[in-house]
Amino acid sequence: MTRQRQRRARREAQRTTTTPPGLVRVNVEALAPYNSYGAPRFVSRGYYEDVAFTCSGCGSKESWRAAQQKWWYEVAKGYVYSGAKLCRACRSREQARRAEARRTHLEGLNRRRLRDA
Ligand SMILES: [Zn+2]
Repeated sequence: MTRQRQRRARREAQRTTTTPPGLVRVNVEALAPYNSYGAPRFVSRGYYEDVAFTCSGCGSKESWRAAQQKWWYEVAKGYVYSGAKLCRACRSREQARRAEARRTHLEGLNRRRLRDA
């Protein structure tokens, strides 16, 4: 390969792998393991993009930010095919509801344990 061709090839590789400004790069090593029936789109793309979604709780139009996705997939190790479903308000309402259900359930168990003891 001539030096000029080498340079051109390097430039080409750089151009196609560079993250567009303002976008968040994917660190594939940090992702939760998945069997690859085809990598998720953000993996083959190489960076996260804000994703628009409609909250399935209240129907409001929301945006799942690239930085939030990076946190979800790489820090919290969320499943790579999982996505955002609820807005922040609906999510905290749902978490409170689950915590309350868990508390009631454990109380019931304790009551039965005391009664049967
Ligand atoms: Zn909502």
